Amino acid sequence: MTNDDIMRWLERTADVLHENRTYLTDLDSAIGDADHGINMDRGFSAVRDRFPTMATMDISTRLRTVGSTLVSTVGGAGGPLYGTAYLRAAGVAAGKQELSSADVVAMLEAFLGGIVARGKAQPGEKTMVDALTPALASARQALDEGATLAQITRRAATAAEEGMKATIPMLATKGRASYLGERSIGHQDPGATSSWLILRSLAEACEGK
Ligand code: ADP
Ligand code: MG
Repeated sequence: MTNDDIMRWLERTADVLHENRTYLTDLDSAIGDADHGINMDRGFSAVRDRFPTMATMDISTRLRTVGSTLVSTVGGAGGPLYGTAYLRAAGVAAGKQELSSADVVAMLEAFLGGIVARGKAQPGEKTMVDALTPALASARQALDEGATLAQITRRAATAAEEGMKATIPMLATKGRASYLGERSIGHQDPGATSSWLILRSLAEACEGK
């Protein structure tokens, strides 16, 4: 994955989160406070504002800029959680001019690790972790099987989508949705949905779209 691919991933993410802000906010209105789409769009709009200054940055510095921008501009749980994820991903890319397939999988592992370190959620608690955990497992498996980077990231995105759908019957035990108890059952988690969109954007960037 080249530095240009990273830029394409970030541009695609900003576009997709903007296009889906109403969808994400509608999901959050069912089990939260109806702001997840607004939060993610605000964060990635601020990231988009930094694209011109990011032009001369290396991969790690770009990812670190995304992380710090999300932390400083997004209110709500998503800001610090995703902010930490991108900051950890930046750590994996430190000093690298290009990421190998193994590096990209390590970046996904660090991304999920940041969210878990920050939010302490386990799989099954109806959060973004439920999209990212199966995504990482699928990516690792694809890497072991010798798949191409495009295949690895596409399989991660597909697993994230399945993980996202699997949040529907879950009882939320972390975050705002947990306040609803049993009433959180039957709704798709907004954070798992934004995680799927972020990974789908990664796959598209790696497929050269
Ligand atoms: P807020 O809940 O503060 O309004 P958002 O609406 O932006 O923040 O984000 C809500 C999403 O954050 C949830 O759908 C869930 O996926 C995720 N989330 C909340 N708490 C945690 C946590 N402890 N660990 C991982 N993800 C979490
Ligand atoms: Mg919310």
